[in-house]
Amino acid sequence: MSHQNFTEYFGCNVFNDAVMEERLPKDVYKRLRKTIDEGKVLDEAIADVVANAMMQWAMERGATHYTHWFQPLTGITAEKHDSFIVNKPNHKAICEFSGKALIKGEPDASSFPSGGLRATFEARGYTAWDCTSPAFLKEDKSGVTLCIPTAFCAYTGVALDKKTPLLRSVEALNTQALRVLRHLGNKSAKRVEASVGAEQEYFLVDRELCAKRLDLTFTGRTLFGAMPPKGQEMDDHYFGTLKERVAQFMKEVDEELWKLGVYAKTKHNEAAPAQHELAPIYDNVNLATDHNQLVMETMRRVAKRHNFSCLLHEKPFRGVNGSGKHNNWSVTTDKGENLLSPGKNPQENLSFLVFCCAVIQAVDEHAALLRASAANAGNDHRLGGNEAPPAIISMYFGDPITNLLKNIAKDSEQEAGVQERLDMGVATLPDLLLDDADRNRTSPFAFTGNKFEFRMVGSSASIAGPNTVLNSIVADSLSKIADRMDNMKDVKKELPSLLAEIIREHGRVIFNGNSYSKEWEEEAERRGLPNVKNSVDAYAAYISPEAIEMFGRLGVYSEQELKARYDIKLEKYVKVINIEAKSMLQMAKREILPAVISYAASLADSATKLSNAPVELPISETKALLLHVSEGVQELSKSIDALTAAEDTLSTMSRENVEACAKFCRDSICPAMDTLRKAADALEEVVDKKVWPMPTYEVLLFGE
Ligand code: ADP
Ligand code: MG
Repeated sequence: MSHQNFTEYFGCNVFNDAVMEERLPKDVYKRLRKTIDEGKVLDEAIADVVANAMMQWAMERGATHYTHWFQPLTGITAEKHDSFIVNKPNHKAICEFSGKALIKGEPDASSFPSGGLRATFEARGYTAWDCTSPAFLKEDKSGVTLCIPTAFCAYTGVALDKKTPLLRSVEALNTQALRVLRHLGNKSAKRVEASVGAEQEYFLVDRELCAKRLDLTFTGRTLFGAMPPKGQEMDDHYFGTLKERVAQFMKEVDEELWKLGVYAKTKHNEAAPAQHELAPIYDNVNLATDHNQLVMETMRRVAKRHNFSCLLHEKPFRGVNGSGKHNNWSVTTDKGENLLSPGKNPQENLSFLVFCCAVIQAVDEHAALLRASAANAGNDHRLGGNEAPPAIISMYFGDPITNLLKNIAKDSEQEAGVQERLDMGVATLPDLLLDDADRNRTSPFAFTGNKFEFRMVGSSASIAGPNTVLNSIVADSLSKIADRMDNMKDVKKELPSLLAEIIREHGRVIFNGNSYSKEWEEEAERRGLPNVKNSVDAYAAYISPEAIEMFGRLGVYSEQELKARYDIKLEKYVKVINIEAKSMLQMAKREILPAVISYAASLADSATKLSNAPVELPISETKALLLHVSEGVQELSKSIDALTAAEDTLSTMSRENVEACAKFCRDSICPAMDTLRKAADALEEVVDKKVWPMPTYEVLLFGE
């Protein structure tokens, strides 16, 4: 592999456009291409031909099985493998892959969470090929499998997955964006789509060390662990010894991803020790979402080969930077024009200004939904932690664009003779830490030249949800803008005052200062911006009347689909916290407590021996340490009991009332876990490191 030029094998495992053109009869290729470009459903008449070509191609590369690859509401991907083999009456096996099998599959995936969307009597769901995302071959130890990206729905048409609503949001965005473009005189664009590049952060930790910790094994994060003297700073010594293994890992990840047609560009440096980042080149949002799943899967698999565990958790180590996923988002026409590109004269670039304002309105009006789209139990440890964006949604624009927006708002104010004060956040806080060079990295939603970077998304999350929300809320503003434009006599003349109105009404969401600062939290409150601190509260946005109305109107989620997602998210939250609490209790009871007690006993032994020594010795320090450790044991026991009691209460609560369970987890289990952790971490700092029963932060992050 390495001796080859990567352009030779890039995409070699993808049934991509070039392969289709080469292998399909001309007319079939043309019809398939049209289907893909227009995002339509595949014509059954050509499906057999496409399926057969796909199978031939896959078998030439060693594939024996195919799978409908889908994204259930667990947030990861699922697949059910079928072989191409069919038996014929004369006991001969032949290979066959029909158009029907390509278009539609029926996994018995009834155990995936459906939030009550599938009653048991109609538990069947089906998968349908999303031909806008090409089929690909997955190679691993079990062989080669043809993967067909699919949507997963119930027979009623209700979406049971993450892809279906994402595709619907792509349509909504396309429809509304085209309406606006037509009003602006753009007659040539046929399609508008979101482009996304998702930067992926992750940790690499030695696999054997991880295996020695129950918490990392079961929860992907450390539930105990005192900070070493050196934290955030990169330890060059450790990095030196690991560098080569990490580099080999990255090289292999890149190669595997390139074969899958993912334009991976690895970056090596991240803030925390053992933390890294992988950035792909952006692509249309549907493909970017599939690709991000492949990135996560590939990283996990390749890590094992190099004796690493790849931690995708948002906060694997307390006190050390967590991991996120920067979701870079822009809107592009089929002619390749980026509608968020300001160009040389942004003030005269009407499409840039309209789309920019549409995003401002969207983010301000639906901040709660955006926040909810990035919420999960893991991200609760990260957002607002002064290393990741705060839980308050605001937008960074930088001075030039901000000033441009301000001027638009002002000009029209003067023209219209409006006397009201410009109610735009930036104006009220001109110099709040504006000189902080790093300020734009602190913003949850930053304009970075020709795209927006949504930085709240958690590292383990699927980007389908956040982008479904983003596409939808922007489609919503565009539809409102287009409605207004429908009634304009002279768009070029009348548009500026509409834009000014939007900026005046929604400019409060713009903040160019340091979003980590306490001052911003206070200022945001004055501006009336929501500051939602945990997932349980955040999820409520999905079932707010405004969200139900908007998603329904745009045809992205029905009310039933939203309620199901709300329930599933809460259920998952409860499961995560419950598993964490149980893992903690096991570690505390069966590992930490016994170790500390035997350490106390050895201190008592030493004290006795020392006081029996043939010479008179001062042993008050030994006794003091013994006392300290013994007090620590009391604390530890007490907090074990408290967490056990909270867990007992949770186990008696009806899971039907998932809201109550989630709130109980947040308000009782999480604080009890915190107390237990404090007690154990305090002991870790005084107990002989030889007796500590698990690899410490020092070892995990900096090596032995
Ligand atoms: P950084 O954020 O580290 O400065 P870049 O700005 O170069 O890095 O790019 C970060 C990510 O943004 C990459 O995945 C890149 O492909 C993606 N990106 C660049 N331009 C766009 C765009 N117009 N739309 C969506 N994503 C983009
Ligand atoms: Mg970035």
